[in-house]
Amino acid sequence: MRDEGVTKYRCELEIAAPPKVDAIKDLMHCRDRLFAQGLIGVYPDGIGYGNVSLRIADSNRFYITGTQTGHKPTLTAADYCEVADYDIAQNRVRCRGKIAASSESMTHAAVYELDFGIGAVIHVHNRALWSAAMDQVPTTAGGVAYGTPEMAAEMRRLYAGTLPQERLLVMAGHEEGVIAFAPNLAEAEVVLNAALRTYCA
Ligand SMILES: [Zn+2]
Repeated sequence: MRDEGVTKYRCELEIAAPPKVDAIKDLMHCRDRLFAQGLIGVYPDGIGYGNVSLRIADSNRFYITGTQTGHKPTLTAADYCEVADYDIAQNRVRCRGKIAASSESMTHAAVYELDFGIGAVIHVHNRALWSAAMDQVPTTAGGVAYGTPEMAAEMRRLYAGTLPQERLLVMAGHEEGVIAFAPNLAEAEVVLNAALRTYCA
């Protein structure tokens, strides 16, 4: 069921300066902490997992970790890019920077689409949390793969339920995949760490 590393979408990269460090400082710190916790990383076969993003204020654009950066303990600004535009129905993203967006950027876009108040999205992989929290928190249906229009519809279904309060979801069809979100990055990280304490104690 692991579908990491499979690019299901078209990504157009406009080569440009990477995001300014000032704009993504918190994102960079958060990502490196998650790497240290093993929540972002790389599988033995070299496929990376986990990614974080931050909405650019009052827009539908966001900064996100670049593709295949999961092996690096620390990222620089050049490892991030800006998702400037996306089309969920067409499975297409347009990004700007030195590196293409994570292959899961469409999943992040789908979360931001749920609510303009969502400012940050964390997607990690953790087998213990994934299996313990499955069906205890909002959980996407098993047949729905990440980064597809079907996943976006599935998230809307969950958001009509308890997802706005939980701010955490399990992706049943995406092995080990969990998403936390909040109005800001610090709160999203709190949501995730609280879930780890609750389900992986
Ligand atoms: Zn994933």
